[in-house]
Amino acid sequence: MTFSTETKNSLCRMEADTWCCKRSELAALVCFAGTLRKGTLKLNIENKNIADRIFALMQEVMLSNEVVLEAPKKAGGWYTVVLCGEKAIQSLLRTLELSETLMPCFASIELECCRASFLRGAFLGGGSVADPEKNYHLEFVTTNQSFAEFFTQQLASCGYIAGMTARKNHFVIYLKDSEAIAELLGLIGAGTTMMNFYNIKIERELRNRVNRQVNCDSANLTKTMDAAQKQLEAIHKIDRVIGLDALPPQLYEMARARLENPELALKDLALTLSPPIGKSGANHRLAKLLAIADSL
Ligand SMILES: [Zn+2]
Repeated sequence: MTFSTETKNSLCRMEADTWCCKRSELAALVCFAGTLRKGTLKLNIENKNIADRIFALMQEVMLSNEVVLEAPKKAGGWYTVVLCGEKAIQSLLRTLELSETLMPCFASIELECCRASFLRGAFLGGGSVADPEKNYHLEFVTTNQSFAEFFTQQLASCGYIAGMTARKNHFVIYLKDSEAIAELLGLIGAGTTMMNFYNIKIERELRNRVNRQVNCDSANLTKTMDAAQKQLEAIHKIDRVIGLDALPPQLYEMARARLENPELALKDLALTLSPPIGKSGANHRLAKLLAIADSL
């Protein structure tokens, strides 16, 4: 099961809210998943849990049993919640404050509780979220451009600045910011999913940081070891051919220091001299030792 489906299923198990919030959730579901044609309102839904939830919400909000839930006609097909009859549809649209083009007749949602419910309905009706292991991406898809604009503003009024783009004949409203996605999931009631999202995010970031650190450390270490190995070989050669005593005092001291501390990085090696010298000074002396060995 995808992360998105898991999130939706967990939202469907949520206890229904108060009447005002049920109405808001259903309004968003109708806006995202509904079509009104020839006196019939249909909501097409792939996920059975969501179809069941819409069916229950319709019955509760309308206090009627004119609504029908149709099972898919073939395996893998979609569920359809159907409402027939001019009177029933007009009554539902009035209750949800939607126009016949399934656009909200209100400029914004007043109550804070209802805003969260509206976003939950939107997510169930037209949303999806990527697995945070792979990507930070949450989106809502609609075919109605005016509604896409309305919805982007709703998100903004809840503090989420979403991007919008056209994909074929659809409009996609999306969030890419991991903090915003986690927060929104929490707001609409997917608390457990939000915690999982945060855990995965933290794990992923930690893993990246550790990898970077390890790569960086081992690269530096290899570099230091390679350089030290060359210097040791040069010092041994000088010792073999002319003897270290033949070196000028500063180079002699440097050669002894390297022999005694084969593993030290240049900066630390320079500090073992008396008096200690800088990294570039040590580098200079070691280069001289390499040159002498080369000339032998
Ligand atoms: Zn409410």
